[in-house]
Amino acid sequence: MSSEATTPSLLQFAGDAEGEAAIAEARRQIEICNACRYCEGFCAVFPAMTRQKAFADGDMIQLANLCHNCRGCYYSCQYSAPHEFDLNVPAALAAVRQDSWTRSAWPAALGRVFHRHGVAVAAALVAGFAVLLLLIQALRPEAGQGFYAFLSHNAMVAIFLPAFLLPLAALAVGLRRYWREVGGAPLRGRHLAAAFKDAAVLRNLDGGQGQGCNFEKGDRYSNERRFAHQATLYGFLLCFAATSVATLMHYLFDMPAPYGLFSLPKLFGLSGGILLCLGTLRLAMLKTRGARALGAPGVWGGEMAFVLLLFFVSLSGLVLYAANSTTAVPWLLALHLGSVLAFFLLTPYSKMVHGFYRLAALAREAQQRAAKS
Ligand code: SF4
Ligand code: SF4
Repeated sequence: MSSEATTPSLLQFAGDAEGEAAIAEARRQIEICNACRYCEGFCAVFPAMTRQKAFADGDMIQLANLCHNCRGCYYSCQYSAPHEFDLNVPAALAAVRQDSWTRSAWPAALGRVFHRHGVAVAAALVAGFAVLLLLIQALRPEAGQGFYAFLSHNAMVAIFLPAFLLPLAALAVGLRRYWREVGGAPLRGRHLAAAFKDAAVLRNLDGGQGQGCNFEKGDRYSNERRFAHQATLYGFLLCFAATSVATLMHYLFDMPAPYGLFSLPKLFGLSGGILLCLGTLRLAMLKTRGARALGAPGVWGGEMAFVLLLFFVSLSGLVLYAANSTTAVPWLLALHLGSVLAFFLLTPYSKMVHGFYRLAALAREAQQRAAKS
């Protein structure tokens, strides 16, 4: 892991007292865990922790981003309240993780606004709807098939290409900051492969033995959160694949939309939309059951708003498909595209960002495992 001497701390530059306090508290708790080690089989946080005795700021940020907030270590801990040590490792790491996303976000001001004010998520969503509705009125083409009868292909590209690329650029800046802060070395293909493998099966949400986590059931185990996460992840990837395939068909093979039910864009889009809908709905329900004090209570609303936004994206897409050729299509199209636009634009600042940082943390973990062996 990084060391105080070699890894510059962004906290020092930012002068973020709240972040410094969060790291100090997490460090206190992790040092107790490092002596106890009872939870070492639960997730990647504990093996990573046991490789060292002292923890620089960057080390704490890396550990925090490895944590999935499964809460297994809290419910197993003999040192949680009312013990005087008052350990709450999931909450301590959540606070550090949240602060690291906020500080790494670019532009930083947007990061602070979106991480701390869930209402802003909804406001951006409404603004996205309004703009799209206006655009649909103004840019309606004279001819076009399917959805292109309401919004031309060129108009869609003009709106969505920058809305997709600009957040990606912002994410890249944030991830570069993260990598510097945790002392990351140059990435190799095998580190990324290991990270993708861990993310694909959500290994760190299986509780170590496949029994699952304690997120919504207190001291009882469940794999529900893991499965809901997987449905969301694979649903999202299928929807992304649908858009990518449709783009290739349009530009490479001169096969513009609309596509039939048994075409790849439709098959990917429909199956992805259903998975995304079910996964996000379940995640939102589980979130209402989990104890807020074991996460980052200050951003609970923002996180929930984001899950619901993703749910709305998938639901509005499915409803739009079902409403094919009815008079509701223009409004449903505006609602669906508005929610997709809001989702893209909020990606670097909303809970969506956790997927990218978790992947980076897993790649760094693979790197550190390899360096140690
Ligand atoms: S959370 Fe508690 S039981 Fe688990 S390793 Fe830390 S101190 Fe030990
Ligand atoms: S909350 Fe779960 S994922 Fe996080 S450190 Fe504890 S056991 Fe690991």
